[in-house]
Amino acid sequence: MQHHKVPICAHCRTAAVPAAVAPYPPGSQVSFGVVWRCTTCAWTRLDIGMVGPLVPSAETCLNCGAPTGSTVEAACAACGWRTSGAESLGAAAHLQDAPEAAEGGFYNRAFHYANQALLADRACIDAWRFKAALLLKVGLPRVRERMLAAALAGGAPPGLRADLGEGAVEEEVPAKVRRPWWKFW
Ligand SMILES: [Zn+2]
Ligand SMILES: [Zn+2]
Repeated sequence: MQHHKVPICAHCRTAAVPAAVAPYPPGSQVSFGVVWRCTTCAWTRLDIGMVGPLVPSAETCLNCGAPTGSTVEAACAACGWRTSGAESLGAAAHLQDAPEAAEGGFYNRAFHYANQALLADRACIDAWRFKAALLLKVGLPRVRERMLAAALAGGAPPGLRADLGEGAVEEEVPAKVRRPWWKFW
């Protein structure tokens, strides 16, 4: 069980809630922002997250997607992220806490779980579908399509082909009117 740190309002000392998520900076295809808001006062905080590599591999940073050379052990030169132990767990273990993280507003953590699961097992269709749902949730439907196409080209299960095109109808819908997060499992 993971214990994520919910932001605390600097004035009220109470837990904030995730109020909105959208690509950030606006128009970004690689990063997104989560707005946390106090339920009592006007305090807000913006957390920036990254979706990571479209198709995780040992040669890409799991956080920002930049090439890391030959090993995932060294810290990423672009963002400082250090991947550890990704291969020691199966995909299911990495995915276990991912839905809870996403539902709690910790999308960056959820992307990390999904990418680590895919690094451990590129054939895990649940991990691809979870990550595709996350990309829709943070407002990146085109990135979702590119990821599914790259995944299929890179050896993902052919069953994933049926998912291509499903996200198109949600393109460019403002975050606050997008449908609520749906249960993945
Ligand atoms: Zn407050
Ligand atoms: Zn990086």
